[in-house]
Amino acid sequence: MTRVSPPGKITEVDLSLVEKYDVPGPRYTSYPTALAFSDKVDWKALERTIAEDFADSRDVSLYIHIPFCDTLCWFCGCTTIISRRHEIVGPYCEALKSEFADWTPRHGKKTALQIHFGGGTPTYLSPDELRRLGEILLMHFEIPPEREFGVEIDPRELTREHVRALREIGANRVSMGVQDHNPAVQEAVNRIQPFELTRRVVDWAREEGMLSVNLDLIYGLPHQTADSFRVTLEKTLALDPDRLAVFNYAHVPWAKPHQKILARKNLPPPREKLRILKETIEFLTSHGYVFIGMDHFAREDDEIVKAQRSGTLQRNFQGYSTFGGIPIAGFGMSAISQTRRCYAQNEKNLETYQVRIRGGGRAWSRGLIVSKKDLVRRYVIMNIMCNLRLDYLAARRETGVEIREEFAREIEGLRDLEEDGLIERGNEGILVTERGRLFIRNIAMRFDPTVGQAADRYSRTV
Ligand code: SF4
Repeated sequence: MTRVSPPGKITEVDLSLVEKYDVPGPRYTSYPTALAFSDKVDWKALERTIAEDFADSRDVSLYIHIPFCDTLCWFCGCTTIISRRHEIVGPYCEALKSEFADWTPRHGKKTALQIHFGGGTPTYLSPDELRRLGEILLMHFEIPPEREFGVEIDPRELTREHVRALREIGANRVSMGVQDHNPAVQEAVNRIQPFELTRRVVDWAREEGMLSVNLDLIYGLPHQTADSFRVTLEKTLALDPDRLAVFNYAHVPWAKPHQKILARKNLPPPREKLRILKETIEFLTSHGYVFIGMDHFAREDDEIVKAQRSGTLQRNFQGYSTFGGIPIAGFGMSAISQTRRCYAQNEKNLETYQVRIRGGGRAWSRGLIVSKKDLVRRYVIMNIMCNLRLDYLAARRETGVEIREEFAREIEGLRDLEEDGLIERGNEGILVTERGRLFIRNIAMRFDPTVGQAADRYSRTV
């Protein structure tokens, strides 16, 4: 397939298409999705298969979950522990240390090409606790100069010393939540973060030598309008982020009961939300950012854009990744390990997680061994989600399966998407068009036979 997807320049978003395709659907950070993970998995087989997969790779990607936050943002959908009792950190770090100590003898000392501290709020840890965590990492992994080491930081409780400590342990990227610079929105969602504070932390990150700064925004929050969000976008671009994520607020009160508070506030009506989305994409793509898909934007020269254009972008539980094919080892409460054929998620309850680790037990509580058929489906879905194309020849080389035969019914069923201009189908494969970038979840869902089974558990696709 010689044609590559053109740059993500979007001039106009068609609102009637957005309304048509706005349905519940998976975000495909994995396939099968986390809903398929089970506590009834054959643990012995899972352990053996994961070990084989890790043995096949010299490199590893590490995810370390730090679940603590000082206060609860009312839109939050993460796995968090809200506490101002800082002493909870000590036992947690001990548990992490034990998890690392258990991991290395099983799998050997690997090279950590990618490291991510996620949360919660990793900078809930003090600078010295972060340094200690970095020392422990160094004991168990080689950390090469070319690593990509990202940390989610919260400007509200951060000191410059935190940023220095992160640089000392090798971090070179930061990602921070902003959501909206509008004080009325911040007050309504219980997250007061003045613009000047965000600007100061961005400056610290750059002055201390962080290579990349990512900012997260959310639309669909109380008091937001397309006009007010435009002001937030303008202020955000004044900070010159390398990457931007603009998430649709996922209202899932059945899973996150605290979100019920927001339902009583002045949430924007659906039509206004769609206007915000439309104007956000048009604004960012006309100001030098490429729309990667799935809420993500990056500067033209960012590796994530290059990876997408060369067809090597991947997706995992942290979002998009330029380190394709490397198994992920997850540490900490709720963290997910992901290898070529397996997923294993650590216990989600803090107390249970720590008790298990203290007792020398396994941190996993749910997992999945991916079937051969689903490995092929994952290839198809992830190529649509990440690289905006499905190249039949490349797919056969990679999976050994003739995709046009295996998925004949699904490919035939894409006719309406083609008529709406979201994809192009040819003898060599399927291409997602510029217009289709906004709808990649809808396109990928056509290859997912499980999607109807849990529609009420998913967020909206657009
Ligand atoms: S800081 Fe982040 S993880 Fe913590 S409550 Fe707020 S949104 Fe959730």
